[in-house]
Amino acid sequence: MALIVQKFGGSSVADPECIRRVAKRVAEEYDEGNQMVVVVSAMGDTTDHLIELAKELNEKASAREMDMLLSTGEQQTISLLTMTLNAMGYKAISFTGWQAGILTEDVSSKAKILSIAPHRIEEKIAEGYIVVVAGFQGATESGEITTLGRGGSDTTAVALASALNADFCEIFTDVDGVYTTDPRMVPEAHKIDRISFDEMLELATMGAGVLHPRCVEVGKEFGTKIHVRSSFNHNPGTIVEHFDGKAIEKQMSVSGVAFDRNVAKISIFDVPDRPGSAARIFKVLSEEHINVDMIIQAGQRRNENKISFTISSDDLDKTKTLMEEMKWEFHAKDTEYIDNIAKVSIVGAGMITNPGVAAKMFDILAKNMINIQMIATSEIKVSCAINEDDLEKAVKALHAGFGLDMPAE
Ligand code: ADP
Ligand code: ASP
Ligand code: MG
Repeated sequence: MALIVQKFGGSSVADPECIRRVAKRVAEEYDEGNQMVVVVSAMGDTTDHLIELAKELNEKASAREMDMLLSTGEQQTISLLTMTLNAMGYKAISFTGWQAGILTEDVSSKAKILSIAPHRIEEKIAEGYIVVVAGFQGATESGEITTLGRGGSDTTAVALASALNADFCEIFTDVDGVYTTDPRMVPEAHKIDRISFDEMLELATMGAGVLHPRCVEVGKEFGTKIHVRSSFNHNPGTIVEHFDGKAIEKQMSVSGVAFDRNVAKISIFDVPDRPGSAARIFKVLSEEHINVDMIIQAGQRRNENKISFTISSDDLDKTKTLMEEMKWEFHAKDTEYIDNIAKVSIVGAGMITNPGVAAKMFDILAKNMINIQMIATSEIKVSCAINEDDLEKAVKALHAGFGLDMPAE
């Protein structure tokens, strides 16, 4: 008997037929004698529709009210799936995030999970129930409802699996696993059978939407293996886990290409060249929980610098307001906000030991007449900010250039 946490994303629970399919899949495992905890997302595009609805009524709705609204999406699914299981004759019960004991920071719309007190889940499992938990949500110490950020149900699932010491955490989605790049953009992409937490973390952080980056972080921290697979077939998917050194050496230098369209670039010109200027700008942003990705500081003229950085486009409005205040504080002459930026990254564990990988990336982009606006590197990735119009060309060229295209049959 194993304790299994399964998570089903929006497309896997999009309509009654899908919910029945999920219920059958959960029941199959339960019938084998396993204890089941199931995390679900909102049905189909429900979250997007709720956001549109809110915008129609208030363009600048508070983050608190958005969390209140968006958390209802997952609540519909938990009760519908539970009812379906009940109708099939199974003992099942649904829990919202806070009923499941998920305590988060007091940050609306992208709260991190602080702890999980899963005793209600454990009690119900012991009584033989299938427990269905709403993904993407939790509550603060004072009882405020919070959400974990788009795609956050993955993190609910891996965090629950870690807290419950589950034997498996399976993330069911609409593709067969983690691919060398998004198979919707590059049909030649192929499925990766096994990937390390570190590489997966970089791919997810750099935009591979198949997993929420924070679920990979949690998996890595607690050693919780993640199996990403399709809810539409029984094919083996991708195992995300710790790799030993030997396996890493066998890796190719580049194992995947990730991209993110949702990037904005901000520049502040004529920032005083003195200690503390950069600290001030980035402290203000961090206080508002705005993640900054790439940063470039370039001497502009004597005693003045240009500071450019990238953020998620979702944070652009908030950042504009903050940077206009900074401009005033620094007596800076100008600011610039560009939204049609994208980021393309190559990721691979063997990259540090393969000099020339970055050079090859820049060469491939240059041969395709793609201008690089910013560069960032880590031990296992190289990222370039480029014009969004060039993105598809860049991803396809890099995928082919690094030998990732599926060999022709
Ligand atoms: P879910 O609703 O199940 O959480 P998501 O839409 O969040 O599903 O994630 C699955 C999607 O992620 C796929 O349909 C695919 O288009 C996209 N994706 C992006 N990068 C990758 C990748 N490297 N491998 C697999 N899928 C990817
Ligand atoms: N429903 C949320 C979203 O669409 C969370 C999730 O699906 O993981 O982002
Ligand atoms: Mg997802």
